[in-house]
Amino acid sequence: MAVSDMVKKVFLVALGLTLAWAGPASAAGKVRAFVSILPQKYFVERIGGELTDVSVLVQPGANPHMYEPTPRQMAALAKAQVYFAIGINLEDVWLPKLKGANRDMLVVRTQEGVDKIPMIEHHHDEAEHHHDEAEHHHDEAEHEGHDHAAAHSDEHDHGILDPHIWLDPVRVKTIARNTCDGLVRADPAHKTEYEANLAAFLNELDKLDATIAEAMAAIPVGKRAFMVFHPSWGYFAQRYGLTQVAIEAGGNEPSPRHLAEIIEHGRELGVTVVFVQPQFSKRSAEVIASELNARVLPLDPLAEDWKGNLLHAAEAFGRALS
Ligand code: ZN
Repeated sequence: MAVSDMVKKVFLVALGLTLAWAGPASAAGKVRAFVSILPQKYFVERIGGELTDVSVLVQPGANPHMYEPTPRQMAALAKAQVYFAIGINLEDVWLPKLKGANRDMLVVRTQEGVDKIPMIEHHHDEAEHHHDEAEHHHDEAEHEGHDHAAAHSDEHDHGILDPHIWLDPVRVKTIARNTCDGLVRADPAHKTEYEANLAAFLNELDKLDATIAEAMAAIPVGKRAFMVFHPSWGYFAQRYGLTQVAIEAGGNEPSPRHLAEIIEHGRELGVTVVFVQPQFSKRSAEVIASELNARVLPLDPLAEDWKGNLLHAAEAFGRALS
């Protein structure tokens, strides 16, 4: 064998090794993933396990409807391999910018195929708004993100689809499947692991759904209404036969007149509990609760321990409503 052939052979072997190492999960040996909100970190980790390194865009305690990435997050995002979107409004604003800065980043829309319901808003006093129906012909895509951040009035909320899809275990099955597909696309070498983890997670979601359904079925009819400042629990309520009444109006504190309407509405429905979430104001919730002689309880729609939090929520609903 000539020396030049030898060199060529060594070079090809070295190149082969380099290529083998340069797979998607190369650098730290893990898929560098970004998600919008904490519950998604739970989903990605359930399916990706040790094979993934997950960063969360909206920091704990921050309002996801008004979040802006920090410069440090922007730098980390420039190196991310996959972004798991879930359909909240900040993605409409930031994903195009992030894609511009990181063209190789795979964007996975985990909300794909999840059926959405309109945001349930308070009862409007139509006379107060004077709105022109023609104003409501907005582009659906614009609304998908439930744009609380924009300083708009609550009349825009009529057409908005509820983005809080992660609080219904059945819808989470679709989110989980989409998450698994995204991981397989980013890191095909570990397809078997991802799919096995998905199967186990789907099985657990069925059990979780059954457990919550059983607990919620015990709540007497006529005691199934609850109030919440920010209406995050629409899908949970729909799934388990509860009635959610929102306090906020277009992301803001209600006006005194609207507050009076809500109190009246709460009386009619026999509301005995008002839930507040750490990311939003408690002020009007406390006013309403004292008027209704109802309790104020915390309920977090964005906890990182997604499953534990949902079980805790079911327990809180069960205790508060029976
Ligand atoms: Zn929200």
